[in-house]
Amino acid sequence: MLRNSIKLFTIRGIEVGVHYSWLVIFLLLTWSLTLVFRETLRHLAPLEYWVLAVIASLLLFVSVLIHELAHSFMALARGLGARSITLFIFGGVSNLTGEAKQPSTEFVVAIVGPITSFVLAALSYAVAVVADEPRVSLIFGYLAFINLVLGGFNLVPGFPLDGGRVLRSILWQITGSMRRATEYAAFVGRLVAYGLFALAVWFFLVDSNIISGIWFGAIAWFLHSAASSSVQQQVLESRLRQVRVADVVRGDEQAVSPQTTVAELIDDYLLPRNRRAMPVVANDQLVGIVTVSDITRVPPAERARVAVAQVMSSRDSLISVRPDAPLRDAVELLAEHDLEQLPVLDGSRLVGLLTRADVMRQLQLREALASD
Ligand SMILES: [Zn+2]
Repeated sequence: MLRNSIKLFTIRGIEVGVHYSWLVIFLLLTWSLTLVFRETLRHLAPLEYWVLAVIASLLLFVSVLIHELAHSFMALARGLGARSITLFIFGGVSNLTGEAKQPSTEFVVAIVGPITSFVLAALSYAVAVVADEPRVSLIFGYLAFINLVLGGFNLVPGFPLDGGRVLRSILWQITGSMRRATEYAAFVGRLVAYGLFALAVWFFLVDSNIISGIWFGAIAWFLHSAASSSVQQQVLESRLRQVRVADVVRGDEQAVSPQTTVAELIDDYLLPRNRRAMPVVANDQLVGIVTVSDITRVPPAERARVAVAQVMSSRDSLISVRPDAPLRDAVELLAEHDLEQLPVLDGSRLVGLLTRADVMRQLQLREALASD
């Protein structure tokens, strides 16, 4: 789940949430829909336009959710993982885990989203045509239109949009290099963003259509920043994915016993070893971790009397990783819980402490030695 989002529910192990910005855009969208509906269907009470607009906005939200679930379910069917979906108003970010190993997997996972939107558009259109009730027709006519736009917009060949992923999978197939394919696809993404930005300026200055100007400007900005960050992220992630926690953690881990005093910990372990944290082990079992910040709570005068067991974070409260976990998972845990280090446990046996510094060094090494 991305930061700044609210969790809604979990389906087949996939956490679904909405980004905070969604709330603002939801209001903006609902308001602009009241204006559109007022033009299309006259003589309703003012409140009715608002009710219809809220229903239409919510159904748009459901459409976007179904589109993202299609990506996630296809990923699961193809043997990839799907961890979470964060919804924005026009789309979502599906956090899929495990990289597509073949271009064809990436192709089907990407293309299923727009296809789903086009199917939703067709179904909505059918409802709009068949319904006798003009208000139902109004809402479903709008849904047909917006799903068509969603499917079409997502097919724009700019990474990280679905169309960009489709393009990337094709370039990947041709060039044989996923990294080069990502760079080309992101370049096209930035070009599309500049095009949309020019369109936004045109709406503002020539057409005096402020609302369209705002929409196109926002989409251009979103696409540009996404395209720029996706190359770096892609490169980083593909490096991390090849690495397991066991490859990075130093196995020669020394530990202290729970009875060790804080003063001993500082003088015998932290300072001589240049460490900020030590695992605490009793009977070959990890019982906790003690860090510099735990120690700073003990006044210097009492450090010779206080045992490590009294200030450490105990085993129950610790988040740990297995040595065979991908390093990417460890990095996510470090970031998500704002940790400086993670104990690496093989069953209950301590393999070592994985620190942020270890991860950074490993990444810099791989950066320096990388050929692709
Ligand atoms: Zn999509």
